Formats: sequence, C-alpha cells, structure tokens
Amino acid sequence: MKPKLQDIIRTRPLLGDGAMGTQLMIAGLEQGNCGELWNLTHPDRVLAIQRRYADAGSDCLITNTFGGSRIMLNRHGDAGKVAAVNDAGVAIARQAFGGRDGYVIGDVGPFGGLMEPYGDFTEQQVREAFVEQTRALVNAGADAIIIETQTSLEELGLGIAAAKEAGAPCVIGSMAYDVTLDGSTFRTMMGVDPEQAAEFMYEHGADIVALNCGTGMNMDRAREAIERYRRTTDLPVMAQPNAGLPKLVNMQVVYDETPEEMVGGVVPILEAGVNILGACCGSTPDHIRAFRQAMDEYARSR
Ligand SMILES: [Zn+2]
Repeated sequence: MKPKLQDIIRTRPLLGDGAMGTQLMIAGLEQGNCGELWNLTHPDRVLAIQRRYADAGSDCLITNTFGGSRIMLNRHGDAGKVAAVNDAGVAIARQAFGGRDGYVIGDVGPFGGLMEPYGDFTEQQVREAFVEQTRALVNAGADAIIIETQTSLEELGLGIAAAKEAGAPCVIGSMAYDVTLDGSTFRTMMGVDPEQAAEFMYEHGADIVALNCGTGMNMDRAREAIERYRRTTDLPVMAQPNAGLPKLVNMQVVYDETPEEMVGGVVPILEAGVNILGACCGSTPDHIRAFRQAMDEYARSR
C-alpha cells in the first residue's frame, strides 16, 4: 500500500509541480474564463500540462481545481458543477502519472471574496462551499487536500476543518505571503506571519504547513519562511515560490525568472528542511525538470 504523503516526506523530500494557471493561458484559456471548467470541456489540454510535469519528474501533482468551489464556479454560472469539475480534476491528475505511484493533491483556492462584516458572504456559505469541494476531491481519490493561497486564518481554518470533515488522508495549509515595502520581512495581506500560521495549523490539525505564490517570495524568501516554520512546528513543510515578480507585457502578466535562476535556490531550500518543493505562478515544466536534477544530485551527494 502507498504510504501517506505526510509519512513518505519524512523519509525523503518530494518534488511538486509548477504553475497551472499560466500554463492554461498558454494553452489558450482566455483571461476571465474559467480554467477549472476545462476539466470537463478540454480535459486533453489539462492532461497534457500535467503530463509534462509528471514527465519532468514531479512526485506530486496538484489538481486543476483552484477555483472549483461553488462560490467561484457560480461566477461563471456553473455552481452546479462542483462534483463534476473536482472529480474530473482528480482523474486527470491521476491519469497524468501514467500508472506511476504519484500523489494527487486536491487543490482548494480561496473562495474569492470577503466574509461578513467586511463582505457579502456568511461564514456558513464559505464553510459549505469548502465542505462540498473537499468532499468531491476526497471521494474522487485525492491523496491530500491543499488549502492554498490563503491570507486569513479564518478562511484557512474553515478550509482545514472542511478537508478533515471530508476525511482527507492528508491536509496541507498554504499561505501566500507578500514581502513588506521596506523589504525587511513578509506577511500575508491580512497581516499573518509564518509563526502565527504554523501555530494555527498545528492547533487545527493540518498535516503539512506550506507557502505558495505571494509577492516577492522568491527562492530565498521561501527558504526563510521554511526556516521560520521549522522553528515554530515539527510539522513537515511544503514550498511553492513563484517564478519571479509578475510584470505586465502587452497587457499580459508574465513571470520571467528562468529555471537557471530559480534552481540556484533549491539546495539552500533542501538544507532548510523542505519536505515538498514545487513552484507557483509562472513556473513551467522546465523549472520542475531543473528542480528534479538539483534534488537528485543533492540526494546522491549525501
Ligand atoms: Zn501563484
């Protein structure tokens, strides 16, 4: 039987995957359209992206379900497709491994709004949306659930509780930090720092503490976040930094940190004790292939 994700990563670090959103754009998804619906309308294109990550050496693939909650799908008039979108997302990622024993991580992004009293959504609506999505992902056979790109502990807590209620075999909580204007540190948009996040996740029963995306969170900042997580908790750590800062070129958002630039940060991150390393916005199969090489060389050298 395949070991649980949180157990195998205590024996060796695993490689995650790279960006999905920016790859969907390259594959023809237009700005403002729903990438998650492609699990149903263009499964071949989603599969092709994930297959490239699997071929590049990813041990874990994250499903194309970032915006797969009822609240997010409702923006496109598809609130009724939660089960279908998430079920297909898991099946496509599993297929991308081509029979190899990889880990499929069910992706849950932010619900995309604010809760009362700051916004229009009730806590109950958000809780129900997360419960419905995580249940669909778990029922489809996801090996883990990642509640990602989170900025508030309140929303993160609802996501973690939903994943646990759904019976997820492993629950990952992943925060999006932004480097502060003076460059001295980083915290989420809602003011959460890594120590607070790690403590919160430990208390709420997450299995892995993680960070992804964020502004200015390059490989070096990711290493710093990993060190801060590890000083706060014994839980395993996952990191998915972006490929540099977003730049607007011809009205398109581009990320231009090359695999060569990013890969220099891999060994310091491994030495900081990362358990799963992947990459977020702007990263490509070439970035992941470079990470694979660096991780394999590091493992051989020890
Ligand atoms: Zn990102």
